[in-house]
Amino acid sequence: MCYAIPGKVVGIKEGIVTVDYFGEKKKARNEFYELNNGDYVYVQGGFIIQKISEREALPVLDSWKKLFFKLKEIDFRLAGGAGNKYRRANALRQKYHGNSCCIHGIIEFSNYCRSNCFYCGIRKDNSALARYRMEPAEIIKTASYAVNELGFKALVLQSGEDTWYDEKSLSHIVTEIRKKAPCLIILSLGEREEALYRRLYDDGARGALLRFETGRPDIYEKLRPGRILKDRLELIKKLKDKGYLVMTGFLIGLPGQSGGDILNDIKLTSSLDSDMFSFGPLIPHPATPLAGTAAPSVETVLEAIADARLDNPRAQILVNTSFETLDAAAIRNGLMAGANSLMINVTPEKYRKFYDIYPHRAGIDLAIKARIGHILSILHSIGRAPTDLGL
Ligand code: SAH
Ligand code: SF4
Repeated sequence: MCYAIPGKVVGIKEGIVTVDYFGEKKKARNEFYELNNGDYVYVQGGFIIQKISEREALPVLDSWKKLFFKLKEIDFRLAGGAGNKYRRANALRQKYHGNSCCIHGIIEFSNYCRSNCFYCGIRKDNSALARYRMEPAEIIKTASYAVNELGFKALVLQSGEDTWYDEKSLSHIVTEIRKKAPCLIILSLGEREEALYRRLYDDGARGALLRFETGRPDIYEKLRPGRILKDRLELIKKLKDKGYLVMTGFLIGLPGQSGGDILNDIKLTSSLDSDMFSFGPLIPHPATPLAGTAAPSVETVLEAIADARLDNPRAQILVNTSFETLDAAAIRNGLMAGANSLMINVTPEKYRKFYDIYPHRAGIDLAIKARIGHILSILHSIGRAPTDLGL
């Protein structure tokens, strides 16, 4: 199983490499490998994340060749330009991203958190929740399985704000994953120190997923006790300055939030020069202060996806799992409204139900391979190729 198409290096100029995919040329940054023309590589998020031999590349290319053009044709047929907002957004997605849909695996490695966000089920004060931490060796093993056995090329390492993992252990985890399971490593560790993020970049992490949650300082400060929005935004900017691909966004359906706030949050996500929009509906958790809040409507979330695409044609836009939890058809509908990215949970099954950010999370009961099969069948039905061809 493979979620990316290997490309052939056809040009190299000062760290920027031209990669050929069945005649289409794309640019990518090379920071990890010695490369020559004729080498085969995998690209994610604009970075060359793995070099493979011709012997490994050719059979994968062969299996992709027919499918690649067939899927493009289906997408082309389904994504006509004129019409309502969703169709316009989907046409823009096609214009700027073709039919590629990047798929990230996510490993939720600890549900300990020092924070007390009002919306979140793993907040510190939820004493009813059993807590777990994966040992560094187990995280590395899980990443190796996801990359080397399942074919993932991008992995999010996510946790509560858990300082049990210090700079040394996180550095070890990132270094070993780069070595044993070459992929785009995306950190989602919450508001940890800038120096820690700098160190992990130097160890090979290239993505950071950190939502600003809401652009309204009054709502932010009420829902994240002891934290201020300015600090979060500053950290996001510093991560971008360091070179991280930044994935940020917001929650839809927070108490006090209006339709205008959602549009402003989309603008804020764009103005942060976000490489990927990550936003989704609040799913109220019964063990949180927001237990009595209503989840937003499916239509509100779909509109936000379309508005985000219209505002920012070049960004990756994720259909996130909380939207799938709200709506069984979220993947298909979200991808048809302008989104072009998905996440698949690769956390070992025994831990998944304890990563209880919100209840009844979509897909947690399915074994990983069944979940992958389900998602691939949706992608194929709408002509999307589970891959990321780079910038
Ligand atoms: N601790 C890290 C990463 C884990 S939380 C952090 O906070 O950044 C990841 C995301 O889950 C948060 O950014 C938040 O937007 C989302 N989240 C938390 N509770 C949620 C809920 N009840 N419904 C939907 N999303 C939620
Ligand atoms: Fe902790 Fe993140 Fe949940 Fe806030 S949203 S309580 S920081 S895991």
